Amino acid sequence: MSLLVVGSLAFDSIETPNGKVDDALGGSASFFSVVASFFTKPRLVGVVGQDFPPEHIQMFRAKGIDTSGLVTKEGKTFRWKGRYHQDMNSRDTLDVQLNVFGTFDPVLPKHFRDSRHVFLANSSPAIQAKVLDQVEKPEIVMADTMDLWINTEKKGLLELLPRLDGFLLNDSEALLLTGETNLVRAGHAVRKLGPKFVILKKGEHGAMLFSEAGVFVVPAYPTPHIVDPTGAGDSFAGGVLGSLAADSASSAADLKRAMAYGTVVASFTVEGFGLDRLGEITRKDLDARYQEYRKMLTF
Ligand code: AMP
Repeated sequence: MSLLVVGSLAFDSIETPNGKVDDALGGSASFFSVVASFFTKPRLVGVVGQDFPPEHIQMFRAKGIDTSGLVTKEGKTFRWKGRYHQDMNSRDTLDVQLNVFGTFDPVLPKHFRDSRHVFLANSSPAIQAKVLDQVEKPEIVMADTMDLWINTEKKGLLELLPRLDGFLLNDSEALLLTGETNLVRAGHAVRKLGPKFVILKKGEHGAMLFSEAGVFVVPAYPTPHIVDPTGAGDSFAGGVLGSLAADSASSAADLKRAMAYGTVVASFTVEGFGLDRLGEITRKDLDARYQEYRKMLTF
């Protein structure tokens, strides 16, 4: 059981119809590793600037996250600023300051190279491939992407896809990547590009899994308290791969259960700004909501 995540650590400034926050701890690797720490002891690789408070690193460590792959570089930490629309299903990126993340060249500490589960969080396909080259014998590799890489580094992305077990992307990205106009056709088409399974994230409309076993659909957990959707996708990924890593499992039934864990943990993330809500809950809360979600889906 050894789960590696490589991705961004950020200061997020977020505006939603429910309020705003400045310089909250965020980034794909932060959300993923905090969520995965409910299931296992994740290994974190990323880069931050000298402005990154030691308290954040202590928080990761207190959750059992191995931060020996976290590098502090001269300069500032990555900053992202976004504003959500009224329905909170879509957002505009108002500002991106790559800072030290712009020259991120991840080198895995030696003792991370035997990781069996790997999450390549959103970054350029070239960086994702470089990380994968350093892992000796991965069992399950999952990656995320964004429209930017589909538009600017499609060739690199297409080369990466056959190396993946799981590929996560949101609905509009799947349409963009395949040229399809229907999500189901797009899901199948993405799978034909190489990954063993594909998960299409649909925000408040849940997620769809395309695998050898066919199509599996999960609704979002219906939380009435949506405060800030930032990090829902990375949290979902942390729940999916965290549960697969904890059980060393990968059957069709395991994947379905992992989808449910991803859904439930993402529903907590959106109930607060940044990582706030995840910081309040325990594995017991997560399991209680998981059982409630299971009952909701039984008929
Ligand atoms: P999500 O809401 O799951 O899509 O993830 C949001 C997180 O992604 C935020 O915490 C941002 O800091 C981070 N993020 C935004 N843009 C980028 C980017 N270009 N590369 C890596 N991480 C990003």
